Amino acid sequence: MQKSIEKLKELTKDVVLLEHAIATLSWDQETYMPSLAIGERGEQLALLQGIMHEKVTSPEIGKFLEILGAGNNTPSGIVDSATTTDKAFIKELYRQYKIQTRLSKKLVTDLALETSLSQAAWIEARKKSDYSIFKPHLNKVLELTKQKAESIGYNETPYDALLDEFEPWTTAKEVDDIFKSTQPWLTEFIGKINNSKQVDDSFLLKDFDISKQEVFGRKVLQDMGYSYDRGRLDVSAHPFTTTLGQDDVRLTTRYQKDFFKTGLFGIIHECGHGLYELGFGDNIKGNLLASGTSLGIHESQSRTWENIIGRSMSFWKYYYPELQKYFPENLENISLDNFYKGINKVEPSLIRVEADEVTYNLHIILRFQLEQELISGTLSVEDLPEAWNSKTKDFFGITPDNDANGVLQDIHWPMGAFGYFPTYALGNMYSAQFTSKMNKEIDVDKSLENGNLINILDWLRENIHKYGASKTASELALDITGEKLNPEYFKKYLENKYKQIYDL
Ligand code: ZN
Repeated sequence: MQKSIEKLKELTKDVVLLEHAIATLSWDQETYMPSLAIGERGEQLALLQGIMHEKVTSPEIGKFLEILGAGNNTPSGIVDSATTTDKAFIKELYRQYKIQTRLSKKLVTDLALETSLSQAAWIEARKKSDYSIFKPHLNKVLELTKQKAESIGYNETPYDALLDEFEPWTTAKEVDDIFKSTQPWLTEFIGKINNSKQVDDSFLLKDFDISKQEVFGRKVLQDMGYSYDRGRLDVSAHPFTTTLGQDDVRLTTRYQKDFFKTGLFGIIHECGHGLYELGFGDNIKGNLLASGTSLGIHESQSRTWENIIGRSMSFWKYYYPELQKYFPENLENISLDNFYKGINKVEPSLIRVEADEVTYNLHIILRFQLEQELISGTLSVEDLPEAWNSKTKDFFGITPDNDANGVLQDIHWPMGAFGYFPTYALGNMYSAQFTSKMNKEIDVDKSLENGNLINILDWLRENIHKYGASKTASELALDITGEKLNPEYFKKYLENKYKQIYDL
């Protein structure tokens, strides 16, 4: 048995190396590649992806998985005497192997082609705020996505098969239950905030020198424990974090002179993702398990740093005097209290990516409900804009002024990434649940007031990062807090924080 496991590890090592090589080429494409290089770069990436697909689906892997009893798709089907980590490795490899081998080459190629056409149409449709340009493409992508779900297979609904790609081992029903118990509460809570005196954040919208934003951001990164010996920070159109090797995890951000929030909080957010990728234990390094266990857990790490830590009073007690020195012209006369309120302003808005931490999850719940209906066929592509607008009215009390600010705002559906959205909200919820435990074990506020961010990182490493994908999202939640994901933690977190800010 041990021989088979070792053989599988050897076979998949190449897959990990190829993944990192592909990430290197993609990172370059998004940051420094000259524009005319795009043609050959596309071919290079397609070639490597093809080789990787062959490696993951090789009959040899199938043979060893079968010997190890992975076909039952449950941990109990895997040889009992294997170590816990090895069982997790086999389980995860089987999950990936199953998906890859069930998708026909034709379907993968059709999806790649249609989603690239649909993204181009979406860009134009959004620019002109004209849904009719995008509609026929969405129909095709949706059709292929349904075929994909059927090919992969599922227990309850086709949406489960799609969700599994981003949030493994979590079902649509579980997400639906959590969201249904959250949405009315959020809508009511936002209503209460709306009826209170609004905080002033106008000082954040003045000009902030970009080079100083960068210096300050880099300082915070280093304090968080991010090392430039194992990564870089660059600029790209859309901020992202990518893993190019076990000791090479790179971050990107974008700076806006008049909107200081994107630069600083964007850097902190991406660093949260990066620290997770840099914190995998030695026992899984270079292995398939050295990866985030789900996008929800990944997002929990970025959100913990960005919102729970980075938008806390204790954090700014330490950093605000220094920030004032960087930008005296804008902040000299703004008290710490008003600064704290400004960076936590809550306001129902139309655009997801600009939403605050209270309204954000409502944007997600809206998308989750609509995409479930699209996949199940109870909502047509034709009726989507109207459904979008009426839900926005129900949830937020406002209606999009046009489709560019409504149904056309996100790239996920044009990309065919159905099942992706819920992971953002799950991340916010996991972050509140994990932090409740962290608060019991270490003095988080005192650490932050002393600028000791390493204390926070150490806790996250010990409880979350080191396991990588060797524990599922639910297993992590159970092991850390004694229960599966429970949205009450998130509600309590918001209540405690915003009661004070808005005097509720
Ligand atoms: Zn993120």
